Amino acid sequence: MAQQLAGKVAYVTGAASGIGKAIADLYAQEGAKVVIADLKQEAANAAAQDIESKGGTAMGVAVDVTQEAQVDASVEAAARAFGGIDILVSNAGIQIVKPVQDFSLGEWQKMLAIQLDGAFLTTRACIKHMYAQGRGGSIIYTGSVHSKEASRLKAPYVTAKHGLEGLAKVVAKEGGPQGVRANVICPGYVRTPLVDKQIPEQARELGISEEEVIKNVMLKETVDGEFTTLDDVARVALFFAAFPTNALTGQSMVVSHGWFMQ
Ligand code: NAD
Repeated sequence: MAQQLAGKVAYVTGAASGIGKAIADLYAQEGAKVVIADLKQEAANAAAQDIESKGGTAMGVAVDVTQEAQVDASVEAAARAFGGIDILVSNAGIQIVKPVQDFSLGEWQKMLAIQLDGAFLTTRACIKHMYAQGRGGSIIYTGSVHSKEASRLKAPYVTAKHGLEGLAKVVAKEGGPQGVRANVICPGYVRTPLVDKQIPEQARELGISEEEVIKNVMLKETVDGEFTTLDDVARVALFFAAFPTNALTGQSMVVSHGWFMQ
């Protein structure tokens, strides 16, 4: 079968680890040139080298998605190196868990900055290239089941993930005439460093064991008690990126083993 992203350039944030890395890997297998955008140059390079060692094309760029100048410069460098930008996956994210009354303003602002400022800044930088190139584009935000649903201890995360749905809908409307689509992937729990870190934290905050956090908090509402996998999420990201028309835009897709059904 022909590669689904042949000739495309994808800029993926948070791509040195977890979900972003899995998406970048699959995009490269499908023929895209992939920009691994992450905080540390070394980690970004390692992920890019991993792709290159399997025959793909990738480059690592160091960027903090909350920093306007860094985002603009890294997108320019990537577009210059690879001949434009066709796909943005705005994926970088962190998690801080605690009750709402215990969040400092700084923690709240940090969470919103990474999720929302990062999504805005990368969208702005990439969409200019998509418009100028005149060949459309696909913008994908990594939302979460928490774009739809709330959980205890996650006030800024849930707020920001809901916000991404609003941004995607506006970008879908504005980008439509130029063939630029915007969609949100909403994964359930996936075993990445982001989740592994919060299992003991949630156990402490809720006064239950780590096994109970997994069974009774994270996977309780799924249809089969299973974690969502990196591959599950990457496949949805490929579907959004490769979709050929404006019919699929302004949407969100939940991939969560039935935890949330819409
Ligand atoms: P992860 O910790 O494995 O990877 C996140 C990556 O983002 C890291 O490489 C990190 O260095 C990078 N990053 C963090 N802050 C950054 C910044 N300011 N600028 C640039 N890069 C930055 O986590 P993950 O689980 O793969 O999470 C990726 C995305 O998926 C996040 O947006 C997260 O909210 C979302 N998500 C994760 C799950 C899950 O269960 N793991 C579920 C739903 C949504």
